[in-house]
Amino acid sequence: MKIITSVRKMQAWADQRRSNGRCIALVPTMGALHAGHDALVRAALSSADDVIVSIFVNPTQFGPREDFDAYPRHFDEDLEILGKLSSGLTVFAPGVEEMYPEGVQADRISVDVGDMNRYLCGPFRQGHFEGVATVVLKLFHACRPHVAVFGLKDAQQFVILSRLAREMLLDVSVVGVPTVRAADGLAFSSRNVYLSPVQRKAAVVVSQAVHGAEEAIKKGEQRREALVEIMRSILCREDEARVQYADVVDADTLQPIEKISPGQHVLAAVAVHFGSTRLIDSVFTQAPAGQRVEKYDEGS
Ligand code: AMP
Repeated sequence: MKIITSVRKMQAWADQRRSNGRCIALVPTMGALHAGHDALVRAALSSADDVIVSIFVNPTQFGPREDFDAYPRHFDEDLEILGKLSSGLTVFAPGVEEMYPEGVQADRISVDVGDMNRYLCGPFRQGHFEGVATVVLKLFHACRPHVAVFGLKDAQQFVILSRLAREMLLDVSVVGVPTVRAADGLAFSSRNVYLSPVQRKAAVVVSQAVHGAEEAIKKGEQRREALVEIMRSILCREDEARVQYADVVDADTLQPIEKISPGQHVLAAVAVHFGSTRLIDSVFTQAPAGQRVEKYDEGS
């Protein structure tokens, strides 16, 4: 497995691969790899000739009171996990000074994500999505991928990054991989290690809530208020769960919807605290198309 830590070397490697006509896929991660990341790497391996997995805990996407210093860092274990997936992977593991050559505080330029940070996690994580969009753009410039693979688990991030690629005319196809879950439904997350055994058990309500909303949407429930109530009532089954938000938004713009239209693509999402650990989960789903209008057939 090749490990590259410098941006210049990463670019030279990618340019050489590109000039040989090879398709490059990038899987951006912050390390502390788990089964969710594995699925992303497998999807990348099946869609490209060369796969780069980046491991970079990005300081600009953490708020001042968030867990940047405490975030789990297990570089050696991560390499072991990746080695088992394929010995041909390239790992891009830059230091902060490589990704922010002017210094994290001194950077003057960042990606503005418009009003897409006004909904769901945005109001609770000031500057988070600007930090994510900025570092992903930097990673694209460093790794020069044709394809970039992200988890649908971070649904708002996925929607924003898909639009970043589209709106900024980036020549990168953004691919989303379905959320990988433990047997009881809890989405794998690097932050699950913070949960106590009691909290881990209680956290099952997080996936139940979003799946409850999905089921109701599929059965024809269109009202945001009713869907929010369904999610909140499931989350409230556990005393440990403190709901930060539960909402239903348009899957493409992230705007809240009071009443879902027939056939509309929507995202039902929650953020919940268990003690100081914050978990998110979500489902993308489509409302039923409504009454089918039979086409008039001239021949009949
Ligand atoms: P992270 O290392 O947490 O920044 O995540 C790196 C990538 O892995 C992101 O695209 C996440 O959406 C994705 N990811 C994290 N957890 C899961 C999961 N349980 N299933 C699928 N993808 C995931």
